[in-house]
Amino acid sequence: MKINFIDLQSQYKEYEDEIDKQIKEVCTSAQFIGGEKLETFEKNLAEFTGSSHAIGCSSGTDALLLSLMALDIGVGDEVITTPFTFIATAEVIAFLGAEAVFVDIDEKTYNIDASKIEDKITSKTKAIMPVSLYGQCADMQEINLIAQKHNIAVIEDACQSFGARYKGESSCNLSTIGCTSFFPSKPLGAYGDGGAVFTDDDKLAKKIRMLLNHGQNERYKHKYIGINGRLDAIQAAILNVKLKYFDKEISTRQKIGEHYSDMLFTCKLITPYIKADRTSVYAQYSIRVKDREKVIEALSQKGIPTAVHYPMALHLQEAFADLGYKDGDFPVAEKVSKEIMSLPMSPYLSQEQQEYIVHTLKEIHA
Ligand SMILES: *Cc1c(COP(=O)(O)O)cnc(C)c1O
Repeated sequence: MKINFIDLQSQYKEYEDEIDKQIKEVCTSAQFIGGEKLETFEKNLAEFTGSSHAIGCSSGTDALLLSLMALDIGVGDEVITTPFTFIATAEVIAFLGAEAVFVDIDEKTYNIDASKIEDKITSKTKAIMPVSLYGQCADMQEINLIAQKHNIAVIEDACQSFGARYKGESSCNLSTIGCTSFFPSKPLGAYGDGGAVFTDDDKLAKKIRMLLNHGQNERYKHKYIGINGRLDAIQAAILNVKLKYFDKEISTRQKIGEHYSDMLFTCKLITPYIKADRTSVYAQYSIRVKDREKVIEALSQKGIPTAVHYPMALHLQEAFADLGYKDGDFPVAEKVSKEIMSLPMSPYLSQEQQEYIVHTLKEIHA
């Protein structure tokens, strides 16, 4: 049985006619930067999340970078975040000369442990950047309360959680700024790089729009030092098609995620824990096993692809050596990074494929 880790080919086949038509329209109009497709997409994004402003940009990484830039975060500042995430989260903090201050994660949700944040706040702390990992929001209410008390910003790294709900509201619209990614393998994926920034703050929105276009406020007038961080019209046009079907895809992802958990219930492994007041979009379906290398190898022998998100916590990465962290500083993140692994997940995973995966897993890991 052929199983893809993420089945983007089947998704394309499903929407092929509409997507091809959209791409052709962009090529025919030759409006490759900005224009109506992008405006429509931004309007649809704002509506989808309930945010006052949705701003398309070049990637999730740039969405995070633009957010920090808009808040004037740089040398001498500290930003609190999780060590158990993709490198981009902390990379952009360091890139601007600010310091990433890590806080360990919760062992059940794998998101930042909100109860440990306040201890790390200093006079230099400018923002808290929680990550909504694997598609489930962090404890945003607790985090927002801490931020309000200390008058600092909260940037949600929602690169994996676009479409997730938290206490009845949408991920990306839960804090000062929300950032998401449309990297092809994310729940809402473009056909190349893409991302978006969300905020209810008019001033921040205006500034972010300038920053992603070289700090330009009118043609060849530059108010800020910015970047080239625009979203391509062709990606916006493709995403407009996919967004129409996104609610349906999310509910299929959730059914598949829940089906995995039901079938794996009796196994000696740890399945995802989703809190009652929120949903996950299952950007990944990640389990924890003690003998990960053996399990990955045995599944691979049977044609089942897996991945590890993420094998090394960020405080132990060579790139962050200058922060001076060491093994043992964040025991939960370190433990989880040694046990975590992701199973194939996409709305196009058939029941038959899923049962084969679970059956194989049970054979090697009763
Ligand atoms: C994917 C991802 C990013 C970066 O998004 P890109 O679009 O690839 O730049 C940042 N943070 C997290 C948690 C991600 O999963």
